[in-house]
Amino acid sequence: MNKQKRIEIFTRLRDANPNPTTELNYSSPFELLIAVILSAQATDVGVNKATDKLFPVANTPEAIFALGVDGLKEYIKTIGLFNSKAENVIKTCRILVEKHSSQVPERREDLEALPGVGRKTANVVLNTAFGHMAMAVDTHIFRVSNRTGIAPGKNVLEVENRLMRLVPKEFLLDAHHWLILHGRYTCTARKPKCGACIIEDLCEFKEKRDYL
Ligand code: SF4
Repeated sequence: MNKQKRIEIFTRLRDANPNPTTELNYSSPFELLIAVILSAQATDVGVNKATDKLFPVANTPEAIFALGVDGLKEYIKTIGLFNSKAENVIKTCRILVEKHSSQVPERREDLEALPGVGRKTANVVLNTAFGHMAMAVDTHIFRVSNRTGIAPGKNVLEVENRLMRLVPKEFLLDAHHWLILHGRYTCTARKPKCGACIIEDLCEFKEKRDYL
């Protein structure tokens, strides 16, 4: 795909949604970090249901740590993998209190050293909480990047690196939100809605004719 097409794609996605953000509910970097840890293999809607009850009661590392693993499980037991997520969140809260003065660190290395935090979670926090140019490639972004030809790659790291290199700078900060939302609602895994897609004429997906 050439540069001009990429510019046109992101211009249209931006025009359709000028201020995109995550669909996870949060009001601080710490709440975002916890919500993203909880969101692995779970829906944002499901995570929001749990955190809407949890955060009014506990939304600091000290307060969640004080709940303990069993106390935290009561709030998150509707979310997949809640046992291991509860363990990770409590360990993460302890490290934040002991090593980071109860603040969410702004460095990738420090974020990735927290239990339950991998590269993708670190990228979401760096981008959405701190405004860094970072690309959190999830299943939606991976699919959309490959289908459209915006940034094809064999694995998520390859797609991340290509997106960071190929997405025009003016769109880089918000690109991951646009791509996630496009993948979640239009370029869905099964039966993409190509007939209703605002970038259909620019998309290089060979099978798109089957879905028009
Ligand atoms: S045309 Fe179809 S395959 Fe291409 S981005 Fe749109 S929904 Fe996805």
